[in-house]
Amino acid sequence: MIVAVASGKGGTGKTLVATSLAISLPDKKTVQFLDCDVEEPNAHIFLKPSLSYKEAVSIPVPQLDEAKCTYCGKCAEVCAYNAIAVFPKHVLIFPELCHGCGACSYLCPEDALSEVNREIGIVEIGQSEGIEFIRGKLTIGEAMATPVIREVKKHINQERLAIIDVPPGTSCPVIEAVKGSDFCLLVTEPTPFGLNDLALAVDTVKELNIPCGVVINRDGAGDSNVEEHCLEQGIPILLRIPLDIEIARLYSRGITLVEGMPHWREAFLRLYNDIKRIAGDERDCDY
Ligand code: SF4
Ligand code: SF4
Repeated sequence: MIVAVASGKGGTGKTLVATSLAISLPDKKTVQFLDCDVEEPNAHIFLKPSLSYKEAVSIPVPQLDEAKCTYCGKCAEVCAYNAIAVFPKHVLIFPELCHGCGACSYLCPEDALSEVNREIGIVEIGQSEGIEFIRGKLTIGEAMATPVIREVKKHINQERLAIIDVPPGTSCPVIEAVKGSDFCLLVTEPTPFGLNDLALAVDTVKELNIPCGVVINRDGAGDSNVEEHCLEQGIPILLRIPLDIEIARLYSRGITLVEGMPHWREAFLRLYNDIKRIAGDERDCDY
């Protein structure tokens, strides 16, 4: 089963929830944790994995053979990302805008464009107390998060429970991280910002046809609008984590809820059982 843990905005405690869920499960060898928040991966702070393997993530970008080019402009025409500009006697390629779709080299009538690999990030793999830990890291300054997320997700083992830490927001990297999941846990907070971003996240997940449930973090801090919205939309609230100075201290020290306050383990196990029930998944082991 694949469980994505997402939030419409950053700073809601998404990673705290995702890592606490992973740690609460008794048979850790059956769990994979995938940090797909590749622009700012921080699950390692909580899970403290030992990383033993690293691979580069590259995308194919065009390389010009000036001798063959007739400056016809076809490549610039087909590039949806404005990564090529053609002048009367010059072609400019902007590799950082290139999405590696291959259209320009495929359609060049003179065969003047070949493809070269350009590294944009890495995937690292390790272990954290039996949990297989996989994370992607986008190189600083790069804009293309989705190919890195795609590479991280290639390591999903369908026989295991894969918990995905999704990037915040509702843009393309979020869709890439969430799609194919059996369930999406949406972490939010009871504030107007939390409600606004939750509503956007719910729309995205519904569009992908993935069942979802909500975790309200810092419960008691704001108003009841998130709760009312969930009720209206028929979205179950599966866990409430109160606004608590002790929890905030644990968070700031990189300690999961379950490690710092072991009585939370039971709540996270209940959460997992609820997820399994809603996702209708009976393949996984019975925790
Ligand atoms: S499509 Fe090929 S020949 Fe035409 S401008 Fe681009 S690289 Fe040159
Ligand atoms: S590979 Fe695709 S995105 Fe990159 S320059 Fe060519 S057409 Fe544009």
